[in-house]
Amino acid sequence: MDKNVEAFMEEIIAKDPGEKEFHQAVQEVAESLMPFIEKNPKYKKAKILERIAEPERAIMFRVPWLDDNGEIQINRGYRIQMNSAIGPYKGGLRFHPSVNLSILKFLAFEQVFKNSLTTLPIGGGKGGSDFDPKGKSDNEVMKFCQSFMSELFRHIGPNTDVPAGDIGVGGREIGYLFGQYKRLRNEFTGILTGKALNWGGSLIRPEATGYGCVYFAQEMLKTKKDSFKDKTCIVSGSGNVAQFTTEKIIQLGGKVVTLSDSSGMIYDPDGIDEKKLAYVMELKNIKRGRIKEYAEEYNCDYYAGKRPWEIECDLAFPSATQNEISKNEAQKLVDNGVIGVSEGANMPTEADGVEIFLDAKILYGPGKAANAGGVATSALEMSQNSLRLSWSREEVDERLHNIMCRLHESCVRYGKENNFVNYVNGANIAGFVKVADAMLDHGVV
Ligand code: NDP
Repeated sequence: MDKNVEAFMEEIIAKDPGEKEFHQAVQEVAESLMPFIEKNPKYKKAKILERIAEPERAIMFRVPWLDDNGEIQINRGYRIQMNSAIGPYKGGLRFHPSVNLSILKFLAFEQVFKNSLTTLPIGGGKGGSDFDPKGKSDNEVMKFCQSFMSELFRHIGPNTDVPAGDIGVGGREIGYLFGQYKRLRNEFTGILTGKALNWGGSLIRPEATGYGCVYFAQEMLKTKKDSFKDKTCIVSGSGNVAQFTTEKIIQLGGKVVTLSDSSGMIYDPDGIDEKKLAYVMELKNIKRGRIKEYAEEYNCDYYAGKRPWEIECDLAFPSATQNEISKNEAQKLVDNGVIGVSEGANMPTEADGVEIFLDAKILYGPGKAANAGGVATSALEMSQNSLRLSWSREEVDERLHNIMCRLHESCVRYGKENNFVNYVNGANIAGFVKVADAMLDHGVV
C-alpha cells in the first residue's frame, strides 16, 4: 500500500476501530485519490480528504413501537449527514437487521462521490435502522415508520436533507414515512423521494437504478464496439434494482439467467422473459414471497444458500448488497470469461475481488458510478416537486440516459490508462474534484 494511504488509514482506523465496511470504502477511495492529491497540493493543504471522511453530523436515535401482540419493540435509527458542500444531503434509508454505524457511514461516504458524479446539486447522506420489515404485518411496518419519522423529521427538510429508499424501504415505507412527516410539520413538501405518482413522485424513479446500471454497461460496451445483443447476463438480488436491471437487459436484447435473495438463487437457462419478470415483481413486491417459488413455478433449478457468480456469463450485475462477490467468486467470473461487471448494489465486490477485475482489465463499473441513476432521478423528482410540475416518462428516461452517458464520459476522462479505462479511479477522482473545489470555496467549515 502507498505510504501516504497507509498513514491516512491508520488515523481513520484508530478513530473508529470497529467500522470495517467504512474503512474498506475509505481505503478504496484514498488509493485512487492520493496520487491525484499529491499532484494538487491545494487539496492536501486544506485537508479535504480528511474532512470528507468525517461526517458533518451523525444522528442516532431510539425507535420504540408496539407490535401486533401489544409488545414494545425497540430499534435503533440513524441518519448520517456526510457532506453538504454541493447541495442538501441526499441518500437512501435502509431497513435491515445488519444495519449499523459502519455500514451507514460507508454508504454515506460513497454517496458523496456518487451524487457529485451525477452533475446535479446534491450532497451526500444515508440512514436507516436495524428494523427488519420481513415477516412484519403492514400495521407493524406503519407503526415503526411513524415512530422512526417522529424523530427524523426534525433533522430533514426540502433544502436540508432529502432521504429516499434503499434495501427494505420501498414505496410502502416511503408512504408511511411521508404521511407522518406531513402530519408533524403540517406541510406538503418534497422531503422524501421515491414517492408514489399521485402524491409527488416521479415517473421512472422506481426503474432508475436498474435502468441506469444497464445504460452504464451499455456505454462501457460501446467502448469495445459491443452491445447487449445475445449477451448472457447474471443478476443477483430480486428487489427493486435487480427487477429493473433485468427489465432493461431484456429490452436491449440480452438474456438474464439468474436472480437471488438472501436464501438462495434460481438458474433459468432459458432466460427470464417479460412474463416471468412480471411474476417475480408480483412475488416480491406484493406477495412478499421468496425467489425459490420462481423455480417451482417455472421448473428450473434452485440453489439454497448460493450466489450466482459460478454461472457462466458475459455480463454480471450484482444487485443485492455489499460484499456479495468474494475474491474467489471474482476469479471464477473472470475464468468463465466475463467481459463486464456493472454494480447495481453498493460496494458488492470485496476489495481483493476488485483487484482481480482491474488486473483482468474487464469492463468494471463500480457502484458509485453504475448505480448513480437512482439518486440522479431522485434529484429530478426534487426538481419536479420544486416546480410543482410532472415530467413525462419519456422526458425523465431521456434525462436519466443522458446523465448516465455524461457520467460515463467523466469516468473515462479521469480513468483512462492507455487502452484501458480504470472506472474506479475515474469515478473517485471525477466525484472528488467538484466537492473538493466547493469545500475550498467555503473555507474551513
Ligand atoms: P431491495 O430491498 O428492493 O432488494 C434487496 C435484494 O437483495 C433482495 O432480493 C434481498 O433478499 C437481497 N439481499 C439484501 N440483503 C442481502 C444479504 N445480506 N445477503 C443476500 N441477499 C441480500 O433493495 P434494493 O434493490 O433497493 O437495493 C439493492 C442494492 O442496490 C443495495 O446495495 C442498495 O444499496 C443498492 N442501491 C439501491 C438503490 C435504489 O434506488 N433502490 C440506489 C443505489 C443503490 P431478501 O428479500 O432475502 O432480503
